[in-house]
Amino acid sequence: MARCVARELVEWSGVDAQRLVDLLVERALGEMGNYYYYTILRMHLVGVEGDALRRVVDDAREEDRNHFEALVTRIYELGGRLPATFASELGGLVALRNLPAEADVPQIIPILLKAAEESVRAYTQLCSATAGKDNRTYNLVLAILHEEIAHQVWLLEFLGRDARDGATHARNISPLVTPHLYSPQSAHLEVNSRTA
Ligand code: ZN
Repeated sequence: MARCVARELVEWSGVDAQRLVDLLVERALGEMGNYYYYTILRMHLVGVEGDALRRVVDDAREEDRNHFEALVTRIYELGGRLPATFASELGGLVALRNLPAEADVPQIIPILLKAAEESVRAYTQLCSATAGKDNRTYNLVLAILHEEIAHQVWLLEFLGRDARDGATHARNISPLVTPHLYSPQSAHLEVNSRTA
């Protein structure tokens, strides 16, 4: 039986570790759902408008995949796991969002803005739940929060631009979350307690 030091430290600082893991799993599901949705959506985006929106979707998609990876790392560090039902829950989540039959940019934008808004709300709550208690999770969810706010800005910029203005700037992907990727495996933080 392995005990998890990271989890004990979090509990010690007054955070309900199981509740925190559940919230992080919920976010991991949200991020993977976005990635999945964006991957399919980008196939529907054609034409001048569609091309421009696809550039936004591609960058947000890449960042959301990074968010998923960073969240999973933290979940494992805290002794949590992704539930066996993850894949089926993902299917349900994606089914809730309407995929357009064809490129219909005006119809898609509100869906994307709503998803970004939900993310911002969820990460803001996670920041409040961990501030001053679990610094490692707090730093991660704060970094993700900043990048989610950037997704909102990209979409609003897209709405405000001239459709024929082809100029785009290359974005720096995940400037804030990258330091949280590829951190030590949870195994390093677990201590075997072989009691008699
Ligand atoms: Zn994200």
